[in-house]
Amino acid sequence: MADKVKVGFLLLGGCAGCEMSVVDLSEKLVDALAHLEVVFWAPTAADVKYNDLEAMEDGFIDVAFVDGMVRLDEHIHMAKVMRKKAKTLIAFGVCAALGGTAGMSSLHSKEDLFAKAFKNTPTTDNPDGVYPQPSCLVDGKYDLTLPVYEDKVRTLNQIVDVDYYIGGCPPHHSHVGAAIGALLSGQMPPKGSWITNGKAVCDVCDRNPAKKGDNLSRAMVTKVLRTVDGTPDTDICLLQQGYICFGPITQGDCGGSCLNVNIPCRGCGGPIPGIEDYGAQALSSIASILKDDTVSAQLMEKYPNLAKFFYRYALPSGTLPKRM
Ligand code: SF4
Ligand code: SF4
Ligand code: SF4
Repeated sequence: MADKVKVGFLLLGGCAGCEMSVVDLSEKLVDALAHLEVVFWAPTAADVKYNDLEAMEDGFIDVAFVDGMVRLDEHIHMAKVMRKKAKTLIAFGVCAALGGTAGMSSLHSKEDLFAKAFKNTPTTDNPDGVYPQPSCLVDGKYDLTLPVYEDKVRTLNQIVDVDYYIGGCPPHHSHVGAAIGALLSGQMPPKGSWITNGKAVCDVCDRNPAKKGDNLSRAMVTKVLRTVDGTPDTDICLLQQGYICFGPITQGDCGGSCLNVNIPCRGCGGPIPGIEDYGAQALSSIASILKDDTVSAQLMEKYPNLAKFFYRYALPSGTLPKRM
């Protein structure tokens, strides 16, 4: 048998849910492990240290899956180390690919975020505003250090060269299976591609009016609702009912998971091919189907922070933050 493919997993600033999607492969993972050798998985699964990665020869890892966004100087350092050690680097999940939900924090100053997290919450007792410091001398002799908190969230490709992208928060396990299948067969898409089946969420959604032969796919939205306003009809396209759904512009590898539980698509799958700026496209797509100014005003009333609404998963990757 040919040598096993050496894979590594590295979590930056994220919740490790992406890595759970690897485990969700269940029996398929068992089959794949006959062909894969996991040589690094930190800091979540394996008893390894960052030093172990630094000590590897450059290019030792065939494929690295890197999940989580970049916010700390430690993330920047480790992303650069992994880039050197891996022949192929995959931005794994929407945090690494587009910044993820944590990317919305870039709309606030570092000072405001620290005050919110370490001083002003109802359960925090910190009247002097003592915040974490990169370096701190304890008892006059122990120099303790913490990673530096950078000013903004960044995507993986704003730090290192990225070969492929996988969407989702977390990625559906089919994404992971497709990536591993493509790796093992040597049939990876062109560098820079998203690993996706190429279908939008609307393409896999049973409510799609076009699938029912209705000519409603271009009907204008006449009101805006949130799911707290009522329970959507499970047979009718959510957009046609007024629930803002990003299915038309989002990759549908999840199989429309949210639609299956009567929730609009929020866009975690990442953009369908051809879209450069997810949030800008979401804004443009939705604005173009609102019937009139009254409906636009309803949207702004229902979603007071439109930047966070449209860029929920993608703010650091968009043009908006670059202009702020
Ligand atoms: S993409 Fe989602 S699941 Fe993955 S690390 Fe980020 S928040 Fe967690
Ligand atoms: S907009 Fe949403 S509800 Fe309508 S067809 Fe697309 S995914 Fe389904
Ligand atoms: S329906 Fe949209 S938000 Fe929900 S899992 Fe799929 S891509 Fe993500």
